[in-house]
Amino acid sequence: MSDLVPVQRVETRTEHFQCSCSHEAHTIRFEYHPWDKDKELYLSVFLHHWLSIPKRIWYALKYVFGYTCPYGHWDVWCMRKEDAFRLRGLLDAYIAECGLVVENGVVKEPAAILKP
Ligand SMILES: [Zn+2]
Repeated sequence: MSDLVPVQRVETRTEHFQCSCSHEAHTIRFEYHPWDKDKELYLSVFLHHWLSIPKRIWYALKYVFGYTCPYGHWDVWCMRKEDAFRLRGLLDAYIAECGLVVENGVVKEPAAILKP
């Protein structure tokens, strides 16, 4: 009998979600690495708009001279209804992987992943 313990291979989980408007530039990506000790869930937002050269120069000049938009730079992504269960599945797997539980409305996590 071997003393070797089989290694369970845990893959990175990545899910892409398109915006309900179906524009390919409106895409978000969730990704987490189950083996990562910090157990962080990453969200990448791709909201890219190609601008003409004059508009890029105009925005660059505004940036150089310190112009800031009072509302920040925001865009929107609207989840397609058919993706709701896939997103919930991703989050359920993430919650299970992190060992998170809710007690009296407060999310508790194992001491091993608590940050100082
Ligand atoms: Zn959109």
